[in-house]
Amino acid sequence: MRSHLLNDLTAEQYCRSVKEGVERVAARIAATDRPFTGITVDELAPRIDRIDLDRPLGDTTAALDELEEVYLRDAVYFHHPRYVAHLNCPVVIPAVLGEAVLSAVNSSLDTWDQSAGGTLIERKLIDWTTARTGLGPAADGVFTSGGTQSNLQALLLAREEAKTDDLARLRILTSGASHFSVRKAAKLLGLGPDAVISVPVDPDKRMRTVCLAHELERCRRDALVPMAVVATAGTTDFGSIDPLPEIAELCAQHGVWLHVDAAYGCGLLVSPTRRHLLDGIEHADSVTVDYHKSFFQPVSSSAVLVRDASTLRHATYHADYLNPRRAVLERIPNQVDKSLQTTRRFDALKLWMTLRVMGADGIGRLFDEVCDLAAEGFRMLAADPRFEVVVEPALSTLVFRCIPAGVTDPAEIDRANLHARKALFASGDAVIAGTTVDDRHYLKFTLLNPETTLDDLAVVLDLIANHVEQYLGESLDRAS
Ligand SMILES: *Cc1c(COP(=O)(O)O)cnc(C)c1O
Repeated sequence: MRSHLLNDLTAEQYCRSVKEGVERVAARIAATDRPFTGITVDELAPRIDRIDLDRPLGDTTAALDELEEVYLRDAVYFHHPRYVAHLNCPVVIPAVLGEAVLSAVNSSLDTWDQSAGGTLIERKLIDWTTARTGLGPAADGVFTSGGTQSNLQALLLAREEAKTDDLARLRILTSGASHFSVRKAAKLLGLGPDAVISVPVDPDKRMRTVCLAHELERCRRDALVPMAVVATAGTTDFGSIDPLPEIAELCAQHGVWLHVDAAYGCGLLVSPTRRHLLDGIEHADSVTVDYHKSFFQPVSSSAVLVRDASTLRHATYHADYLNPRRAVLERIPNQVDKSLQTTRRFDALKLWMTLRVMGADGIGRLFDEVCDLAAEGFRMLAADPRFEVVVEPALSTLVFRCIPAGVTDPAEIDRANLHARKALFASGDAVIAGTTVDDRHYLKFTLLNPETTLDDLAVVLDLIANHVEQYLGESLDRAS
C-alpha cells in the first residue's frame, strides 16, 4: 500500500496516474455535445449503490473506468455554452494547474510552519485585491471557502464591533434581493429571528436608499442597534448593484458597519470597461469576493476583505500547539489568526497562477464579454413577443419568462414555465435556472461562459418556447 503514498519513490507513478486521469477528463470535455445527459436520480443512484466500498479495485485504470460510469459521463458540464443556469463559471487552465499543484504539495495555510511561501502568496493576493477594491493602507483579509463563509465572518466582525451584548437588539439591514447566507449568518451569530430587516428594492432590484434611511431612523427610535448594512454588488438573481455611494454615506452618518457582498460582482474589479460600477465599494468596512464566480476559478476560491486589519482579531484564538501568542510577538505570519477555519487549502495558488499567466486584464476581458452578451440577450428577449424580461442586466444574468399567446391564467403560465425548465434539464440540451419574481415563476440565464453566443441563447429560447407549447397542448388534452 505504500506504493500509493506520494513521495520520492513514487514520483513517477504520480505522474502516470494523474496524467491518466487528466486524459480521461480531457477526452470527456472534448466530446461533450450537451451540458448534461439528462440522467435521473433513479437511473444513477443504483450504479452508485452497487459499489462496495470495502472491496477496492486496487487499480487506477479500473477506478477511472468506474468513475466514467458513476460520474464523468453524466456530470453537469459548466464549460458547455448551453450551461447557463447558476453562478458557475468555466475554469481557466492556469487555475486548474494551480489546483493540481496545491493538492499534491498539500500546504495548509493555517500556520507559517505548514506553508511557508504559500502564506506570503496568499497575503500578496489579498493585498492585491484590497488595493483593487480601494480599501486603504490598513486593509487585510483572508481566503475562505466561499461567499457564505465570507459573509459569516464579515458579520461576526460587525457584531463584535457593534459593542452591545444584547443580541436581541442587533439588526442587519439588507435588500430583499440579497443572498440568503446573510440570514443564515444572523442565525449562526445568535441574533434574534427579526434580526434581518429586508429593505425594499426599486424596479431595477437595487436597494432603495430612501427606505434604508427610513429603517435606520426607525432602529434609532426603537432603541435597536443596526450592526451592519449588507449591500450587494451583483445580486444572485439579477446581477443588480445596490447604490454603494449613497449607502456608504448613510452608514457613515449612522456609524454602521458597511459590508459589501461582491461575491458575484467582484469580476468588475478587473474589468477594463466596467470598474466604475463598483464605485463606492472603497467605503466598505468589509467585502466578500468570490473568485470562483467571476474570476473563472475552480471552487473553492473566495475571500473576505476588511478595511481595518485589527478587526480580524475577533476571529483570533491561540493554541499552544499551533499558533501560540508569542508567535505574534515574533512576527510569524500565522493565517489561522485571521480565519474561521484551521486547516485550510492553499486556494490562493489558483488565482496566483491565473494572474501570472493571463494577467488581471485577461480575466476582466472575459468577464466583460459575458456582460456584453447579457446586454445583447436582453435586447433579443425584449424584442421577442414570446417572452417577458424583467430588468436590463448590470452584470450577466437575464430573468425572463415565456408568455404563450392567448394564455392569461397566471397559474397556467407559471406551470408552463416550470415545465419548460424541467423538460429542458431532462433533455440535457441546455441547463437554465429559475426563480420567482412577485410570486410568479421566472426562468433565468446566468451567463459566465465567454464561449456562449447570442445564437446559443436563441436556440435555448426556441427550445423553451417549444416545451411551453408542448405543455399547453398536453394541458388542453387533459382538459378535454
Ligand atoms: C453565490 C453568492 C453567495 C454565496 O457564495 P458561495 O460561494 O456559494 O458560498 C453570497 N452572496 C452572493 C451575492 C452570491 O451570489
